[in-house]
Amino acid sequence: MARPRRIRRIFFQPGVTYFKPAGVSMMHLQETVLSFDELEAIRLIDSERMEQSKAGKKMKISQSTLSRLLRDGRKKLAEAIVNGQAIKIQGGNFKMVQPRGRGLGMGRGRVLGGRGRMGGVAAGPGGICKCPKCGYEEPSVRGQPCMNKKCPKCQSSMIRG
Ligand SMILES: [Zn+2]
Repeated sequence: MARPRRIRRIFFQPGVTYFKPAGVSMMHLQETVLSFDELEAIRLIDSERMEQSKAGKKMKISQSTLSRLLRDGRKKLAEAIVNGQAIKIQGGNFKMVQPRGRGLGMGRGRVLGGRGRMGGVAAGPGGICKCPKCGYEEPSVRGQPCMNKKCPKCQSSMIRG
């Protein structure tokens, strides 16, 4: 039943990893957790309008894995909006491939052709920044020390996880 999970390559680190509905107090807030690989599938297919076969190749996963990520991710997003939940982007089974060591761009993710060198590879599982206060985690990016980051949830300084 449990197949070994393949590492998915992702090319996009979102500048924002926490979305909170306005007017809902922390106490009543429910969270839905979207993984980075689910987000990447949604980004490639729904935002970049890439074909599934192409997106699967890009992430180095089968098309069935890709469509599962897509289906799960879309469902979470839909439920979060329908139910007024916060969306936390966290975890997943992936390796972050950064285009040319570019930092956290808030703009569009770039589509790499096959050419050129991929910049630094920041770890997915393993390389994380963690919030010492609330436990929020996100993947660390090479060249961006965790201490320089603020937890999007509680604004504390992050530490190396
Ligand atoms: Zn925090």
